Amino acid sequence: MNCTEFHDCACEVVDRRLSDDRTKELLQHAQVCPHCRYELQALAAAKQAVHDKVPMVSVPASLYYSILDRTVHRSGLSWFSRLFGVRLNPVIAVTALLTVAVGVYSLLNPYATVSDDANIIRQSLSNYQAVIGGAIKPQMVGESDRVRTFLEQGVAFDVNVPRMKDCNSCAGVLSDFNGVKLAHVVYQIGDDIVYIYQADMSEAMKGERIGLPEKAKDELTRTDWYIEENPDGRTVVLWKYKNTLCAAVSGMKKSELLSLLTKR
Ligand SMILES: [Zn+2]
Repeated sequence: MNCTEFHDCACEVVDRRLSDDRTKELLQHAQVCPHCRYELQALAAAKQAVHDKVPMVSVPASLYYSILDRTVHRSGLSWFSRLFGVRLNPVIAVTALLTVAVGVYSLLNPYATVSDDANIIRQSLSNYQAVIGGAIKPQMVGESDRVRTFLEQGVAFDVNVPRMKDCNSCAGVLSDFNGVKLAHVVYQIGDDIVYIYQADMSEAMKGERIGLPEKAKDELTRTDWYIEENPDGRTVVLWKYKNTLCAAVSGMKKSELLSLLTKR
């Protein structure tokens, strides 16, 4: 543990977003390093002051993510290294975090109405953005089989965690939207992030609590695939895996993403 590493994680400690082990490790550094101890105390005091004095207001999800993008992401560090430290071995690291970050709009707002917010494509794009911004934290990091086993304990559908070539890290998160259980898989492949949203296919097709635009439903029914390219360079690929709807999002080129997803 050095001061730079501590500095990168200090906010997460104050917000209690790290595992017990990781928190302990950081606090131990603060005990022996006056500079970092001061930083931690200052952050905690600032958080308390904001909490006491500033009224909470809701902001649109897009604003939230753009702030995250510009602050957290600008540090250039991946959230894997920020959260788990440099000693992370993706094969053996298994970390259950206490809580998933607050404010993750589409993941955590159980009272959102079925509308745009329930649109799986929109949710996937928002979640991808939140992963990049560091607002969605992994609950399990490990090799693909372990991530799948972890996720399948929380949902009633088959979870798809394909092995990917040149993957540095694989992580899983479980969540609930409008009472629908969801599984999320995140890969770090070189500098790219691939995020896969997964839900029960019939729930997605029924469209009551989560849903899809008609165009996507038609394509999926006909071909088992649906692809949408966004002007900002993000690609969304939807496909059917057993009884599961998968929605992958990445900033990598469409052809690259498709070849990753279709490779056996
Ligand atoms: Zn220090």
